[in-house]
Amino acid sequence: MESKCIVIEENNCGYPLDKFCIPKHYEDDLEKVLVPAGLINDRIERLARDIKNDFSDEGIVGLCVLKGGYKFFTDLLDKIKQLNRSLEVSVPLAVDFIRLKSYVDDKSTGQIEVIGGDNLENLAGKNVLVVEDIVDTGRTMKKLLEILGSIKPKSVKVASLLVKRTPRSVGYKPDYIGFEIPEMFVVGYALDYNEYFRDLNHICVLNDVGMKKYKK
Ligand code: 5GP
Repeated sequence: MESKCIVIEENNCGYPLDKFCIPKHYEDDLEKVLVPAGLINDRIERLARDIKNDFSDEGIVGLCVLKGGYKFFTDLLDKIKQLNRSLEVSVPLAVDFIRLKSYVDDKSTGQIEVIGGDNLENLAGKNVLVVEDIVDTGRTMKKLLEILGSIKPKSVKVASLLVKRTPRSVGYKPDYIGFEIPEMFVVGYALDYNEYFRDLNHICVLNDVGMKKYKK
């Protein structure tokens, strides 16, 4: 079956760090670059086109899942806005934010908490596009979709930049996916490890030094 995203296979070795610009303060903490920023940018351009075509001229409320989703959210919405400026049909965009927490160190706590955001009641009757950084087991997204369902939006779609291939998956798949990745802990492009590495523009794999240095 044709995949709906770019699949990064198990045997993909990524790219050596010394072939890219990496902030000095993270040079020793990373194993490799898995998805370079340029490729992320190009893939988001296409996701924006797909989303714009699917919604045609119906408005969307983009719901950014903080904190990890903020880079993907701003870059995706910027690209939809670019299309709005240059094409005959434009999609009205509004934005909303929600903050969830489920990870400590590199492990899911299994407890998904809503720890901030706007009043979700505003989403009733709207077409909501949830924008998330990564779906791992899918438990966070299932929980969020339950919460959103009770508010009765007109429709809900989910865009996730990354989806992990893992036997721990509950089987949930987002509507729009940037890349499917092997089961490894990734950081960068706003994805963090205990709040570090959000300021790294490529998606990279942590090494043991980084894991130890920034462990809670
Ligand atoms: P799930 O509930 O799908 O297992 O986990 C989803 C959340 O866990 C994501 O929104 C993200 O915050 C975090 N997460 C899962 N895998 C990774 C990863 O490889 N790197 C980072 N930085 N966060 C992850």
